[in-house]
Amino acid sequence: MIRIDPDKKRRRLRVVLPEARRMASACSACGHACGAPRTGAGVGTCRAGLGDGDHARWQAATPHFGEEPMLVGRGGSGAVFFSYCCLRCEFCQNWQISRQGAGNNGHFSDLAQTFLKLRSRGVENINLVTPTQYILPILSALEAACARGLDIPIVYNTNGFDSVELVRLLDGVVDVWLPDMKYMAPEPAARFSHAANYPDTARAALRQMYAQAGPLHIENGVAARGVLVRHLVLPDDLSGSYDFLLWLRDEGMTDISISLMSQYSPQYRAKTHPEIARPLTVREYEDVVAYADKLGFENVLIQEMTSKDAYLPDFDREQPFHKRTD
Ligand code: SF4
Repeated sequence: MIRIDPDKKRRRLRVVLPEARRMASACSACGHACGAPRTGAGVGTCRAGLGDGDHARWQAATPHFGEEPMLVGRGGSGAVFFSYCCLRCEFCQNWQISRQGAGNNGHFSDLAQTFLKLRSRGVENINLVTPTQYILPILSALEAACARGLDIPIVYNTNGFDSVELVRLLDGVVDVWLPDMKYMAPEPAARFSHAANYPDTARAALRQMYAQAGPLHIENGVAARGVLVRHLVLPDDLSGSYDFLLWLRDEGMTDISISLMSQYSPQYRAKTHPEIARPLTVREYEDVVAYADKLGFENVLIQEMTSKDAYLPDFDREQPFHKRTD
């Protein structure tokens, strides 16, 4: 298990917290920059609210064995799934929590306890899943947990729609960045996730993450720090897979770790859009994998085409994921 120094992280969190409170008071945490007063009664475009900035809402908190192997290690990734989301993806597989807001409200001290409980179960890291809309209470919880000895890496598992301001703020707090890169063009981003500025926002965020943390550093098979970017390949190249790989190369990020995901299946409202109403074909996926190879990327994680079933969660169950996939 990788250990981090909780006192050092706590010192950084104490510097960061006042700035995070300022940012949340007219929220600019994500690409919407909707300005909702999240330290007061404001509810954002993301639909997250809760008043004083000290409360968050989350659903499951569980050792998760379905993430990439370097996040899972032996003990699993300590995933905490936060409610709501700053994107509104028509194909979201976590729609029960991202769109319907399933979960329970809790004070940041409860959240700190949740982190510590996961740690006591032997997880390899704390995996903050879709955290951006609750960044202020999460940082307060981390500060409280570090004060009580939380000493494992923090993984920021995000849809990628994060402001550069937020990414900069989290320098020294986040150990492993785990962003998505969902689209490279505004049209599909607007049509399927209601955020035409997603590509520009996510590219800027990823650039900043990489500048801060660099490529993924793995110790004894487990991610210690750095960036692992996820890319879900969509039918008919709607996610701009080839453009994404070219962009990474042109940006000089050839040593970045990429998780190329084949698991797309038409969930939630995807069936109402003919373009995304079908799963990915083997050919579509293999062509993207071959292109990554052709461009010389060496740190590419690929999935079996059967992964789409193993990865589908049901957040009405106590254990949202079907089975271990490690
Ligand atoms: S995280 Fe939510 S409240 Fe903050 S800017 Fe984005 S949509 Fe608005």
